This record gives sequence, structure tokens and C-alpha cells, in this order.
Amino acid sequence: MPAQLLDGKTLSNKIREDLRLRVEALRSRSCVPRIEAIVAAQDPASLAYVRMKRSWAEKAGIESGSFEVNDSTHQDAVLEHVWRLNQDAAVSGVLIQHPLPSHIDEEACLEALDPSKDVDGITPTSLGRLTSGLPGFRCATPMGIMMLLDHYGIECQGKNAVVIGRSVILGKPAALMLLEKNATVTIAHSKTAELPALVKTADIVVAAVGRAEMVKGSWLKPGAVVIDAGYNKVEGRDKDVGDCEFESCAQVASWITPVPGGVGPMTVASLLENTVRAAEVGLQGA
Ligand code: NAP
Repeated sequence: MPAQLLDGKTLSNKIREDLRLRVEALRSRSCVPRIEAIVAAQDPASLAYVRMKRSWAEKAGIESGSFEVNDSTHQDAVLEHVWRLNQDAAVSGVLIQHPLPSHIDEEACLEALDPSKDVDGITPTSLGRLTSGLPGFRCATPMGIMMLLDHYGIECQGKNAVVIGRSVILGKPAALMLLEKNATVTIAHSKTAELPALVKTADIVVAAVGRAEMVKGSWLKPGAVVIDAGYNKVEGRDKDVGDCEFESCAQVASWITPVPGGVGPMTVASLLENTVRAAEVGLQGA
């Protein structure tokens, strides 16, 4: 029987509606949540992602702004902007959209960001707090994945999970969050031997690779849950595709995320959830 869909689009719409109500409550207390993005001016994909995130934010009643970094923007100017945002009480959260232009030290910008405004959950402090099991903002894409699993009642405890990819923003934090839910986790990467055989052992597969349709249905254990975080452009195809070959995987899996409409919208929902929470925490602390 074909897999059931883990529908991130529908769930994210519901989350956005819930957030809109929380934003209304904040606004009634004169607190307007605001997210500020820092983005490469000459990167059309980054600009499109930020435009989409800002449009979603505004539909939930969250204000937004952005600072575009171009090839002549000095590193100090970006750092000064981060420090200004840290100090600005009207700013709830800051999104540093990867990648910034190559002459900018992105790590230094992340280190400079106040962790209480790190709504994308990717500063070393936020990632360290996740590793230590301490409260803090969780990284948006894996947080969205966990919200999706939770919403569909997919139990992680005692399951074998294989995460393919070890990036700091996706693979590693996804593995830590699955571990936090008592899954037994293996992280695979480009040097992993016998990847199809390893994937065959997994009850839950998270593909976070960036290689179009790499994971085939024949790699999967029957009934596996497949989370496809990949988002790849393929020449000659009008639709972006994931890291899993949807048609063959859906024949073997029990649950699968579509691309688009799975992990992508859940990433934005997580970012906005963190932004609203930052505003709520700020109001309590005021
Ligand atoms: P990344 O930083 O390029 O990391 C890719 C990871 O995949 C690396 O750890 C790499 O291993 C591993 N890898 C590459 N080739 C492999 C192979 N043949 N077998 C096994 N592992 C392999 O990418 P990322 O930023 O994590 O993004 C991964 C994908 O998710 C991309 O398609 C991206 O567009 C998508 N993404 C989606 C969202 C969303 O909101 N939906 C958000 C972020 C990213 P090494 O470490 O050994 O190089």
C-alpha cells in the first residue's frame, strides 16, 4: 500500500493560524513581534526564501525587515547591524540567511547574535544548548521535522533512525532531536560505506543531503518513515525534487513527506513559532 503523506503544508497553515491568535494577544498588550533578516543581496534563492518567510510572517501579524549584504558591504557593517538588532527592543528575532557573500565571516556574525534573538536556532550557543538538553531556540528545519512527526503521532522511542547528512543546520541537530526523543540514531555522510544497507536498518530515515532523488525505494525497510528535507533543482524539470525518489519510496514507506509541501513549510512555521515565543518571553521579562 502506498505511504501516507506527512502534510507539512496543511500543518504549517494551522500553526500559522494559532500564531496569529498569539500575535493578536501580544499586540493587545502593545507588543508587536518583529523578525529582521540579514541576507545576501546578490543571491536570488536567498532573497526568494527571505521574501517568502517575511510574507508568511506578515500574514501571521509579525512585522519584518531585512538588511541586504552586497559585495561592497564591509564585515564591520554587518557586525554593527547585528549589534544594533541585539540592542533594539522592538526586534524579537533575527534570521541570518545562509549563505552570506563569501567575504563575510558568517560564523562571526552568528557568534555576535544575542542567543535570545536567535529564532533560527543556529548560533553556537543555541546548538550547544540543544546538545546539553537545555532550553533554548531549536534549529528551525529539524524542529519542523519533529513537529511533523509529533503531529502525526509517529513514535521515535526505541526506533532506529538514520539521518543522511551532517550539516550544522540540519543533519546534526536533527540527529540530536531524534536522540532526545529516545531514538537510536546513526548519522551518515559522504564517506559512509554501504549507505543503502545502512538505510535498510532504519525505521525513520531523514534525508538531508542535497542530491536529487538519491534515496531509492529499494534502500528502505518496508514501513519506514521517510522525511525528505532535500530541495533540489533539476535541469529540464519544472518542479524541484527532494533527496528521495518519491515514487519508489512511497511504495515501500508507511509515511513520507512530499517535496514541496513537507519539510519546507514546517521550517518557516518553526521560525515564526520561535519569533512569537521570543516576543512572549521578552514581554514577560519587561
Ligand atoms: P549541506 O550543508 O551541503 O550538507 C549535506 C550533507 O550531505 C553533508 O553532511 C554531506 O556529507 C552529505 N552528503 C553529500 N553527499 C552524500 C552522499 N553521496 N551520501 C551521503 N551523504 C552525503 O546541505 P544542508 O544545508 O544540510 O541541506 C541538505 C538539503 O536540505 C539540501 O537539499 C537543502 O536545499 C535542503 N534544505 C532544506 C531546508 C528546508 O527548509 N526544507 C532547509 C535547509 C536545507 P559530508 O559532511 O561528508 O560532506
